[in-house]
Amino acid sequence: MSNSPSTHWGAQPFLGKLGNAGMLVYCKCYGCRKSRTYLASDLAKCFGANRVVGEIFGRCPYCDFGGNWSERYRYPSHDDVINRTVIRRFKGWKHTAIWADEEYSAPEPPEEKPSGMWGG
Ligand SMILES: [Zn+2]
Repeated sequence: MSNSPSTHWGAQPFLGKLGNAGMLVYCKCYGCRKSRTYLASDLAKCFGANRVVGEIFGRCPYCDFGGNWSERYRYPSHDDVINRTVIRRFKGWKHTAIWADEEYSAPEPPEEKPSGMWGG
């Protein structure tokens, strides 16, 4: 089945183009049944203007299920105002510390004191 409302976007629905047109991107997971609506311009900020709808997340960010993850784009309508469609907005990056477990390697061997308690 085809989800494309039209072909006037050309080859592919790039987020940059959709964002400039003020379009929305609706994502739904048929695994956990979560759905989100994004502004295409927000997604372009986060993922880049050359990202294509359908390949943004690839799989559900909630349940990590990739089988029936759906991404579609559409124009907002008056119904979005009436029904108060919740838009998940991009609020910037969170910088998180990255930690990894590694074996201890001493920067230099501990110093042996030749004239210690055994000396003299
Ligand atoms: Zn899911």
